[in-house]
Amino acid sequence: MLDGKMVSTKVLENIKNESVSFIEKAGRPPGLAVVIVGDDPASAIYVRSKERKAKKLGFRSEVISLGSSVSDEELTSVISRLNKDNNTDGILVQLPLPDGFDTWKYLDMIDPQKDVDRFHPVNLGKIMLGRTNIYPCTPSGVVRMLDEFNIDVSGVNCVVLGRSYIVGKPMASMLTNRNATVTICHSRTKNIPDILSGADMIVSAIGSPGFVKADMVKDGAILIDVGINRVDTREEAEEFCTPQEIEKFKKKGYAITGDIHPEAFKKSSFYTPVPGGVGLMTVAMLMDNTFRLFMERTGS
Ligand code: NAP
Repeated sequence: MLDGKMVSTKVLENIKNESVSFIEKAGRPPGLAVVIVGDDPASAIYVRSKERKAKKLGFRSEVISLGSSVSDEELTSVISRLNKDNNTDGILVQLPLPDGFDTWKYLDMIDPQKDVDRFHPVNLGKIMLGRTNIYPCTPSGVVRMLDEFNIDVSGVNCVVLGRSYIVGKPMASMLTNRNATVTICHSRTKNIPDILSGADMIVSAIGSPGFVKADMVKDGAILIDVGINRVDTREEAEEFCTPQEIEKFKKKGYAITGDIHPEAFKKSSFYTPVPGGVGLMTVAMLMDNTFRLFMERTGS
């Protein structure tokens, strides 16, 4: 099992240890600004967790909460102010924005050198070209876990399920740059089970509980589960979740599972659990990106 808790703790400890001398030299801490629009409860939880982690590392953390009725002018001026602010190294607009907001308009507005999520077209382009070493947090977390366990993907037949700019596309580029042979599948792909059955490695990021079943994967495959799905019925919990999550369901009335069925993990050589896998890496890599942008901006 590729333990996300162990690796993410290590990433955060490294940042904490490494940052002390750089903060002293720069005369200020790394600064992360998060802009959240509207009152989506899941987004609020993610933002609080980012803020807590940043503060724990001694970073400067600024959260700008705007109501869903915020005007285009106001949101634009917040991003412009953060672009100019010398104490802000990383800017992040929490996604998804409420309905009616043009996401790309605001992502495009972030200074690419402060774009901590790396979703700006300039940064996505650099990722495709292999011209950067700062990547979107979730695929970056996957690669960090592979490195931790010395898993070399060169020559590996890898299937990435999902083609979002948040996970699937940058993930596929990063694996290609590491010499994997990558196939991307999405909702229009035909015969996904056939494609999966030949894969040495599967990275699933589609958001569908238990989508990848044991009979679709080959013995010894590496299974990376990015999906985070909440299930609210006992039947679903029993069908898709691990015994620990089924127990949680009994107490809390909901459980979390990934896209890969727990039975499939039994056939794998390596797998990432959900919860406790890639999800924990994402916020750690956000802190890592903030620290890297701080180092770039302060010339460290
Ligand atoms: P997204 O933007 O909704 O993209 C989902 C992708 O999956 C799309 O490319 C879609 O295809 C494809 N897809 C959906 N249903 C499919 C099916 N039945 N068969 C094949 N492909 C299918 O989602 P996302 O932001 O990439 O997130 C994906 C999952 O990862 C979600 O569960 C999310 O919660 C999780 N996630 C986890 C983390 C983490 O930290 N672990 C971070 C981000 C996201 P089309 O393009 O054809 O529509």
